[in-house]
This record gives sequence, structure tokens and C-alpha cells, in this order.
Amino acid sequence: MQKGKIDVKTENIFPIIKKFLYSDHEIFLRELISNAIDATRKLKTLSSVGEYKGDIGDMTVHVKNDKKKKTLTVSDRGVGMTADEIKKYINQIAFSSAEDFLERYKDKVDAIIGHFGLGFYSSFMVAEKVEIYTKSYRENSQAVKWTCDGSPRYTLEEIEKENVGTDIVLHMSDDSKEFLEENRVLELLQKYCKFLPVPIAFGTEKEWKDGKEVETGKPRIINNTEPAWTKKPADLKQDDYDEFYQDLYPMNEKPLFNIHLNVDYPFNLTGILYFPKLKSNFEIQKNKIQLYSNQVFVTDSVEGVVPEFLTLLHGVIDSPDIPLNVSRSYLQSDSNVKKISAHISKKVSDRLMDIFKKDREEFEKKWDDLKIFIEYGMLSDDKFYERAEKFSLFKNTDDKYFTFEEYEKMIKDNQTDKHKNLVYLYSTDKEKQYPFIEAARKRGYDVLIMDGQLDTHFLNHIETKFKNSRFVRVDSDVTDKLILKEDNIDSKLSAEQQNDLSVVFRSVLPDKPVFTVSFENMSENENPVTITQSEFMRRMKDMSSVGGGMGFYGEMPDSYNLVVNSNHPLIVKLAADKDKSAGKQLEKIDEKISPVKSSKEQLEKLNKGKKEEEVSQEEKDRINDLNKKIDDLERKREACLQKFSEDNKLVKQLIDLALLSNNMLKGEELSSFVKRSIELM
Ligand code: ADP
Ligand code: MG
Repeated sequence: MQKGKIDVKTENIFPIIKKFLYSDHEIFLRELISNAIDATRKLKTLSSVGEYKGDIGDMTVHVKNDKKKKTLTVSDRGVGMTADEIKKYINQIAFSSAEDFLERYKDKVDAIIGHFGLGFYSSFMVAEKVEIYTKSYRENSQAVKWTCDGSPRYTLEEIEKENVGTDIVLHMSDDSKEFLEENRVLELLQKYCKFLPVPIAFGTEKEWKDGKEVETGKPRIINNTEPAWTKKPADLKQDDYDEFYQDLYPMNEKPLFNIHLNVDYPFNLTGILYFPKLKSNFEIQKNKIQLYSNQVFVTDSVEGVVPEFLTLLHGVIDSPDIPLNVSRSYLQSDSNVKKISAHISKKVSDRLMDIFKKDREEFEKKWDDLKIFIEYGMLSDDKFYERAEKFSLFKNTDDKYFTFEEYEKMIKDNQTDKHKNLVYLYSTDKEKQYPFIEAARKRGYDVLIMDGQLDTHFLNHIETKFKNSRFVRVDSDVTDKLILKEDNIDSKLSAEQQNDLSVVFRSVLPDKPVFTVSFENMSENENPVTITQSEFMRRMKDMSSVGGGMGFYGEMPDSYNLVVNSNHPLIVKLAADKDKSAGKQLEKIDEKISPVKSSKEQLEKLNKGKKEEEVSQEEKDRINDLNKKIDDLERKREACLQKFSEDNKLVKQLIDLALLSNNMLKGEELSSFVKRSIELM
């Protein structure tokens, strides 16, 4: 037997490494198995070129747990190692890279995030002793056993071994006993090794027989050695893609469609991305893409490797060129990785364009589900925007779909306002905003449906991209004013009449939300009273609720406009009613107000240009007195109008009808409206 000391400067580096890499202990299995796969592949190659003449036999890699002996063993039938190779590759290289690693990271525990290629020595994170039993494929090789207990001392001895290949035996330390549990090992194998190219056996296949689980004696193969992404697109049918998706995400619905990535220049990359069918909340669906390196699972947090908006996609990416053995921040700044990200983005838009061109009907069918990805992409990636604006669709209230260009052409003639701006009308809720939609359609306007999660942001964004265009929600103003045109209509009410009616309406409006009353000269055919909410206010509030960081607007109370059509016969009648029942009283008050007002005006004229201290106290008192009188009279006037309003069922009825068309009439108010309506009939 030969004894030796591993050539590292630090004594006992393993306990330190153990601590450092606490959270990632489990990757030891990935490392050992990928070494076994490498060795197996090498021997296959050597055999196929005739350099190895022996029988390669069944090359399945076996993983065995033995709870009694507290060992976990990984066995392969690969190239194996000679004593010299062990000295070179295990003692020197593997361990010096461990030391190198420690040197680099001992001061920055924080930097140790993500995954590192710890290689063979990662087994010391979980084992107190590691043995290697190995026999090289070379002719007349002597099999050897290497033992190391985690100190830099090792032993090397000659042994008998029947087959070419390597067994790595880990004697698990007490705090890593979990890795002796069958379920835990199985879980790790399924996570990291599910698609490795060489069969991996662990335990035995079980079957259900007569309601019981029984051993079959057959080794259980845990991996699919030829996952779909490693095959040529031409060799795959749609069913194969769908099946593979099921394999990856057994709980998910069938995806919308897939994209097969296959690149060999300027880097190697294969993979399949799926557009999933999303439920409402897309946040939780992030990080579903799995990253592989030569079929070894690496991570499922792909930020930086794929563009942000594509982290919503599902599927796998496999690239030996992604530097896996470094931290994520390094990954994101790596130029290869950046190229990969840009490339994937382009591939995705190419594929979408392709489907759009070849099968528009299919594309439209999937659009509602697809839209969130495309909008997210267009919002966050300008390059993607440029490509997607050709196939991104608008949907209108008739469920018809248009490209941006088609839509612009269609509405141009009728929806350009007098300032030459093209006005896009949209609705966020076809049911609730129905009366507005109907009114707009009657004018020959088209109304878009914008009810997606990202639509508020999205239309803000495209507004900055579209030239001379505005997006206006269909209920943000009365139809006449949504798109301002030249034709002005005269008012049938005088300014005084409007002022009076404004008091009349205000006095029976609810306190909350806040209402502003205004008059518009519309055509007789428009509704007498309409409730609108300003586009600006509403968007600000919408954005703050989606988390646009506009807390101020979020806290503003809801405020609406009550717009009265001063030309509607009912409003003209209301003005006449008011004159009939309150006109005399109002006139009397007005007669009293006007002399008071004119004396006040005279006084103010006299004192004009004087400084505060130059006005005598007596005069100040007189002005105050007059002001008070005016206030009193005006309050009386208002009270008189209020009385009229309260006695007049029409006012309340008109307001309630407007509230009703906005879905704002509820509870007690709604039932008294019903009662009043019956009384009026
Ligand atoms: P890496 O795999 O990156 O080279 P490792 O530390 O995992 O680094 O392994 C070091 C070396 O030990 C390998 O390159 C290989 O030469 C040798 N080795 C490890 N495991 C095996 C094995 N199962 N069969 C043959 N050689 C192995
Ligand atoms: Mg390795």
C-alpha cells in the first residue's frame, strides 16, 4: 500500500468548504454522476474508433444506497483510472482546484451563490471518507483503490476488480444522513439527472399488484436518455413535443406552442421553449425554464440567460457554452450569455412571425393567451418591440383581430380629431362600459378591448411609439367629446340656467365618490346625463394599483364627472320646471342681491389701489357686512333650488340612470330607484 499527502497548502480544507457551501450540498451527486457519464462516453468513443477492443457491456450507471454501512455508491463502466491517473487527476488537479476555490472565496461568502462546478471533491461536503475503486480500460491495467478521509492524506493500494470502470463509495458523515434515504436520493436524481444520456439505475422497479406495491427485481432507470431537445426537429411530431412538456411539467395544461432551438454558431445551444397556457397570476409561473449543460441539469433560475420577459416561458435550454461554474452576476455579464439571450429573443419573435404568417387563424385563436408574453416583451425589450409590432394584435369589441397597421387604416378616417390626432378608443370591461361602447359604435367609432393584466402599461407604452395618437377609454368622456371635431353645437340653456341646474344636480348627488357637474352642448339624441372619469386620473390610479410606484394617485379618492347634456329635451324641460316652481322666489332673492352687490362693487372701486392699512376700519366692517348679506342671500337661493331638486323626481331619476349605466348604483340607492321608477310609471 502506498500512502501520500495531497499537495495542498491548507490543512483540512474540507471542513471549511463544507461550511461555505452549506446550501448546495446536494450537488455532490450531480458532480459524481456527471463524471461517471463522462467516463462512460469516453469509453464508448474509444470503443467505436477501435482503441478499446474489450467488450463494453451494459454501460448503465448504478447508484446504490446502503443504510447499514452508511454508504452511497456510484458505479460506472467507463474508462476508469490507472494509479498514475488518480494521482494526476484526483490528487493534484481536483484538489488544487478546491484550494484555488477557497483562496478566491474565503473572504466573500456572499459571492458564493448559485452553482459551482465543485467536481469530485464536492463529495467531501457530505462524506467523511471517500473510496475510489477503479480499473482503467488500458490493456493489462492494475485495478486500484484510493481512500481519503477528508484530510489531505490519502492511501492508494492494488486491488482485484473484474470490470473496467469506477466505483465511488461515499461514507456519509452524520450530518448528511439524509442522502442515504431512498426518497431523497431519488429526488436528487430526478432533479439533476432526469435527461442524462446514459441510463442511470437506482433501486428496483416497483409495480402495483392487488393494491400493493411490489418489487419487480428489475433495475429502476430514472432517466430519459434521449429527451426531445436532443433530437432533430424533423424527427419530432407535435405529440412528441407535447409529451415532453408533460414529462417536464406533469401538472400543467397543454402548452400553446413550442419553439425548437438549435444553434451551433457562434455558440452551441439546443432546447425547446414552450408558451404555456397561463392562469391569471403570471408571477408565480416564473423560473420554469430549466438550464442544462450536456443534459446535466444546472439550474432553473435563468435570469440573465434568457431575456426577462421570456422567463415566463417553459422548457429547457442546453448549452455547453454557458459558463456554469461561476456566480450568477458573472453569468449576466458574460458576453456569450448576452448573445444567447439576444438570440433566443430573436428566435422567439421569428417563430411567432412564422405562425402569424402561415396560420393567422390559429394565431388569432391563441392570441388571448399569447398576448401577455408579447406585451411583456414589447414593454421590456425594444428589439423585440420592433419585430413584434408586425404581428402583435388588437382585438375589438366584436372579437375581431387587427394588426396595428390594419387597425390604423381602418379608424383613420373617422377617428382623427381636429388636431390631427388619431384617437384609439378602448374599453377595459365590455359589460360595465356597454352603454359607452354602444354610443361610440353608433357614431361609427371602433372600440378596442384592453382588459389584460399589462394593458394599462402597454397602452402607455405604445402611445409613445405611435405618432400623433392617443388612447382614450370609451367612458372617459361623453361620446361627443371623445374625439373632438369641428362641428360646434349651440346650447339651448343660458349660462344662468346652467348654473342653477348645476346646483339642482349637485344637491342630490351622493357624497362619495366626488362628482364634478358640467354641461355640454350635445345633440338631442345623446343621453341627458352621463358619468365619466377622466382618462388621466384613471390611468394614474390604475398604474398605482399595478405597482407603478404612484402611491399619490392611488390614495386620491375616486372622482367622476357628471356631464349634463344641455340640449336634451328632458334637461330643457327641467330648466322650465325649475322656472315654473321656483322662478318667482329666485327672482325675489335676485332682486335683493343685486343692489347689495352693486354697493359692494362701488365700495371696492373707491378703495382700489389703497393699501390694507389705508382702508378705514369702518369701511372694512361695511364690506364684511355686505359680504355676509350676499352669502346669506345666496344660501337662501341655493336652499330654494335644493328644495326644488328634492321635490323633483326627474333629477334623481336622471342621476340614477347615469349611475346605473356605470354599474355604480347599488344597495339601498338601487332599490329606491326601482320604487321611484314604478311610481313614475
Ligand atoms: P472535472 O470533471 O471538471 O474534470 P472533477 O473534479 O469532477 O473535475 O474530476 C477530476 C478528474 O477525475 C476528471 O477529469 C477525470 O479525469 C477523473 N475522474 C473523476 N471521476 C471519474 C470516473 N468516474 N471515471 C474516470 N475518471 C474520473
Ligand atoms: Mg466532474
